[in-house]
Amino acid sequence: MTSRRAFLGSLLAAGAAPALLHAQPRLRANPFTLGLASGYPHPSGFVLWTRLAGEFDPVAVPVHWEVAADEAMRNVVASGVAEAHPDWAHSVHVEPKGLEPERWYWYRFRAGDTQSPVGRTRTAPATNATPERLKFAFASCQHYEQGFFNAYRHIVADAPDLVAFLGDYIYESSWGRDHVRKHTGGEPYTLADYRARYALYKSDPDLQAAHAACPWIVTWDDHEVDNDYADDRPEDGMPRERFLERRAAAYRAYYEHMPLPERMKPKGPDMRIYTQLGWGTLARFYLLDDRQYRSWQACPRPTRRGGSNTVNVAECEALFNPNRSMLGRAQERWLSGALEKSGARWNLIAQQTPMAQFDQLPGPGRRAWTDGWDGYPAARARLFDALQEHRVSNPVVLGGDVHSFNVSELKRDFDDPASATVASEFVCTSITSQAWAQEKLNTLMPDSPHIKLIDSRHRGYVRMEVSARETRADLRAMESVARPQAACSTAASFVVEDGRPGPRRA
Ligand code: FE
Ligand code: CA
Repeated sequence: MTSRRAFLGSLLAAGAAPALLHAQPRLRANPFTLGLASGYPHPSGFVLWTRLAGEFDPVAVPVHWEVAADEAMRNVVASGVAEAHPDWAHSVHVEPKGLEPERWYWYRFRAGDTQSPVGRTRTAPATNATPERLKFAFASCQHYEQGFFNAYRHIVADAPDLVAFLGDYIYESSWGRDHVRKHTGGEPYTLADYRARYALYKSDPDLQAAHAACPWIVTWDDHEVDNDYADDRPEDGMPRERFLERRAAAYRAYYEHMPLPERMKPKGPDMRIYTQLGWGTLARFYLLDDRQYRSWQACPRPTRRGGSNTVNVAECEALFNPNRSMLGRAQERWLSGALEKSGARWNLIAQQTPMAQFDQLPGPGRRAWTDGWDGYPAARARLFDALQEHRVSNPVVLGGDVHSFNVSELKRDFDDPASATVASEFVCTSITSQAWAQEKLNTLMPDSPHIKLIDSRHRGYVRMEVSARETRADLRAMESVARPQAACSTAASFVVEDGRPGPRRA
């Protein structure tokens, strides 16, 4: 695959692309069945995405794109032609620039004589602007078989400025009960497998509608590749070289299906997706990748070579090794530098896994799950050091992964309830993926008094509203994911007041 890509790359560099571009597409049906999307808003632009679906000759297809200042697409302010290349699954990533800050735009594509539907997106406020508020939703964990992605209808109804997706956009394996629909094909390993899995997930109409309604920013967790993988180590002992080929296929398919900027294009098994994004002086997002660079999980199960485990911390010395990293040293340094330079009032650290310590051994002693930040306590302490050292204004950590709402105070020392709260944490429940029973979580709550709420009973998302005075989080709970149409209600609301770390019930 690499040599083929290098060959195409040199063709493009040698100027062969225009010849390919002029080949006439033979579009036998509507090629926009995977929808359209936008992402990564900045003050003068954003990324536009689509992928042509269907049967094609293996040639590049020219795709016209337009951005308009009005929904009727009368006042076109930017347009061009992009190349949907077969080597990238006929995906299109366009980055219009020179647009006005802090406003909504509309966009559409055309391939052959087929026009796509119109999508809506927006730019971010200017760097020095002081916007009154930022409204966004964050979500994670959408298992296709376990439910309809109906929470997105309610996200669309909330009309957020953006959606932050925090991992498990697809699942590689079939699990859980009460399936409402089925994966096609088995577990993906090849590029073709992952492409098919994304195409299946993107067939969900509510997911498509949410992508068409506002820009998204995204990060991945493990299931975009393989359960519980850590850097180059899968859980099942697949040889490193083969696993890196699998990771390269998975990352490439991820790029092909997400509204990611060109600079994030993967190079083999490497793909830098961590980044930051400002919302004037009000807020700044740090979108992290805690999968690609992490140290292997400490003390794996005796029957396995990799993957997560739940360990008695007294019996797993490796857990506390200060050399172990969750983000990799380069990303750690980048994050610390970015936090130091931030002039934003609210600093939103958007990433995959729960950060608050969660003791899974009722009573004396502590058991820790090694895949989340509990498995990387030295790295977590270094992040807290950075927050304190750089006097970061109002740090709020956003996470997913565990399929429950978790609301916590992030403590300098989790074993000392009197120690300083360094940040607030909100973990969203899953869009559909099933969770531990609430009864089990209830037995564990007393050992972690810094966790203000855990609720695994609902699927849904978190709606955030950030203003100078406070950040408000509404935990949005679906009545059901067993049918496309279902009600959504707010299970609980919390606020973090400016200058006062820690979530309080609203
Ligand atoms: Fe998940
Ligand atoms: Ca305990």
